[in-house]
Amino acid sequence: MANLASLVGQQKIFFIIGAAFGSFMLGVIMPASPPYTEEFKLPAPQLTSVGKKEKQDLLNIKTAVNQRIEGFTTKAAQIQEQYKKRFNFSVPARFQGAITYEIKLSGKEKVVALTFDDGPWPDTLPILNILKQNKIKATFFWIGRHLQTYPEIGKKVVAEGHAVGNHTWNHQYHQVDHFTATREIEDTGSLIYKITGVKTAMFRPPGGILNNGLAAYAQAQKMVVAMWSTDTKESYSPSPEEIINTVLSNAQSGAVVLMHDGGGNHSNTLKALPQIIAGLKKRGYKFVTLPELLEMQDKELVAQAKSANLPTEKP
Ligand SMILES: [Zn+2]
Repeated sequence: MANLASLVGQQKIFFIIGAAFGSFMLGVIMPASPPYTEEFKLPAPQLTSVGKKEKQDLLNIKTAVNQRIEGFTTKAAQIQEQYKKRFNFSVPARFQGAITYEIKLSGKEKVVALTFDDGPWPDTLPILNILKQNKIKATFFWIGRHLQTYPEIGKKVVAEGHAVGNHTWNHQYHQVDHFTATREIEDTGSLIYKITGVKTAMFRPPGGILNNGLAAYAQAQKMVVAMWSTDTKESYSPSPEEIINTVLSNAQSGAVVLMHDGGGNHSNTLKALPQIIAGLKKRGYKFVTLPELLEMQDKELVAQAKSANLPTEKP
């Protein structure tokens, strides 16, 4: 037992010596503070020796810095707002779950919304070029499986500032059950978000069919069911002149023009588009996206409601 106790005592001594040596070596190897923090150290402020002038200087600097920060904050808020508008095509509350055709505007400004369905598609690219040359923005309603095939074209549409909406995954006309409607619309919406970062609350039913379960699903999700007021009827293969005539003869402020960029041959639409734009410009029309058009009408309706609540003048 005595031998065992002395053995344990010896081990303790070795351990203590070892630990002390280890700490000493660590101290030698490691500097008091890591060298990489040295250059970031700022001298401690010597506020005790600050005179009147220095105090004023410090105050001025503080004020200038605060002004700059305020400026940055305002700018950041503006950028955030622009970003939100660009990538979140939400709709004013009055249009959530509503069906829209033309958007009636009473203001002096004449505006029209060009919309293109069934893309993204290779024909989307020349349409984008025409829109770019004319510095105008349009609205595209996408088919999910087409976006899956042409994601880069989809990205280009959004990058160039156009609005996008949901036009289902498979472009079905027949009656669908709730499950199918969910997949058709939600899968398309998710892919639009995944590829472009856009969240859209705009839905256009394939073929404009409102009673096959798809529009009802979109309305229940508080999307706006965005129809149109002028149909260029491309499925009947009209000539470029006929397409131009259809659009120009039906022009009115708040008109929503239906054309197609996807799912077929659009050579006549491509030929007609520059003249449609030129003809509308000549008649004093400006081009807006569908979300912009909805926002314009919302503002007008809000203003009308406000003026209607004004107290009537006493006789
Ligand atoms: Zn379609």
